[in-house]
Amino acid sequence: MLTDDLRRTISEIEAEPRKEENGKVILDERHFKLFKVFCCKWQKTLGLNHWNIVYSFDKTDSGVFACCRFNQESMKAVIVLEQEWDVVDLKIELNTLQQLEGSAFHEMCELLLAPLTLIANARDNEVVHETHCIINRLDSFRTNSSLWEPTVMYTKNSAFPPSDNPHKESSGGTNGKAN
Ligand SMILES: [Zn+2]
Repeated sequence: MLTDDLRRTISEIEAEPRKEENGKVILDERHFKLFKVFCCKWQKTLGLNHWNIVYSFDKTDSGVFACCRFNQESMKAVIVLEQEWDVVDLKIELNTLQQLEGSAFHEMCELLLAPLTLIANARDNEVVHETHCIINRLDSFRTNSSLWEPTVMYTKNSAFPPSDNPHKESSGGTNGKAN
């Protein structure tokens, strides 16, 4: 499903040292392009084609990797990919590309569960918590299932945090801070 152009972009990113400033991983337009491709993949896979999605690549104050705002009446959603990923408090080692797809999956799950979230009142913390428990279960199914292959086979070059833990295996993007 990946075009040659996207494959080139992935190899390019993996071959470069990751750009970091003050404990933040700095993403660029190439990451944004891939993120949108991953979102489209999971939008189709989860049968969410009735949503009209607009994407934005921006800085947020929330410290998440990506976030989603939606209006169920108009079926419009805005998905924001954070430009600077704060990884200072991250307890596990992640891979940038792997996390991009994990975050895309997460935001599509938010849309999948949107009707329930709205019925129950999105401001209810218990509902938000349970929604994320379901998303995490779906995500471990996604990353562990032989039915759902990853879009690309990631190498470890783009893993973070940087070389402090060279012996540690990359642990999959299931626990990222996508919100
Ligand atoms: Zn979320």
